[in-house]
Amino acid sequence: MQKLKKGTRCTVCKAKGQKDKAVVYLPHHRLALCKKHFVEWFEKRVEKTIKEFRMFSKKDRILVAVSGGKDSLSLWNALVKLGYDADGFYIDLGIDEYSQDSKRLSLDFAKKVGRTLHTVSLKDEIAPIPQIDKLTNRPTCSACGTIKRYYMNRYAKKLGYSIIATGHNLDDEAAVLFGNTLHWDIDYLKRQYPVLKEEGGFIRKVKPLCKITEKESALYTFFNGIEYIEYECPFSEGASSIEYKEILSQLEEKHPGTKLQFYTNFLKRMYPVLKQHEEKKQLKTCVICGEPSFTDICSVCKLREKIKS
Ligand code: AMP
Ligand code: ZN
Ligand code: ZN
Repeated sequence: MQKLKKGTRCTVCKAKGQKDKAVVYLPHHRLALCKKHFVEWFEKRVEKTIKEFRMFSKKDRILVAVSGGKDSLSLWNALVKLGYDADGFYIDLGIDEYSQDSKRLSLDFAKKVGRTLHTVSLKDEIAPIPQIDKLTNRPTCSACGTIKRYYMNRYAKKLGYSIIATGHNLDDEAAVLFGNTLHWDIDYLKRQYPVLKEEGGFIRKVKPLCKITEKESALYTFFNGIEYIEYECPFSEGASSIEYKEILSQLEEKHPGTKLQFYTNFLKRMYPVLKQHEEKKQLKTCVICGEPSFTDICSVCKLREKIKS
């Protein structure tokens, strides 16, 4: 992306006989674009991904899980601009300054885009992440991920939405795929698809930015003047996914397109094979909260009990 030569013209403008200079170069797509055409390209790519994976339509009520980061805010902005009925959902994780800043930025953005942002606070629902972290042996991000997914599902249903859209991007998906492949974690690989269908109390979950890189979403926020939280969650430090991202980015630097190919070829060639061997696990309903669970009491209710005692 940095390899833009001085004076390069925008590929789209050039085709139209205009002379606008490119401000972005996307080596893996061999595209040099001006600001306007980059924004257009980004939104078209999101729309194409939504259609390719049949994620949702203009009739659906979509709840965008908003963290205050560049990806989820880019996603929300693009969906509203594309004419989708998309509101936001923010979970206050209770992580000091990080949560205060990300909440403020999410609320500011909601105002700017003129849509509702629903918020819930883990402090009221269960306990803030720093307290939960002391009680579990699991890595923080993994425990936090389970809790976020639980409240997204619970509230999306309560508030009458049929789809949850998250801002996971290509870098996230390729890094998770890399980790799961290194460990040959077949059960996770079987579920690594940008659409998780609604079933047994789970509502549909989609990742419309799965073909958009982190850099592309950063540029999209920049060109649209969207302010987002620029520092990472303090608990994510040392997470293995960050190392995997670094390794993949080194490969990408030498061979543009590696990340996209790794991910899309998995979806095309490997996922269908794994899917054939999917064994359906019997879903139950948590006896305490009524949310879907593989055990009689779901993991969040178990955690809540542990905190109480
Ligand atoms: P992360 O797991 O932090 O990489 O975030 C992945 C996606 O999960 C984001 O793009 C959001 O869509 C969603 N997400 C993360 N944190 C929150 C939060 N605090 N509230 C709502 N959604 C979130
Ligand atoms: Zn142009
Ligand atoms: Zn429960």
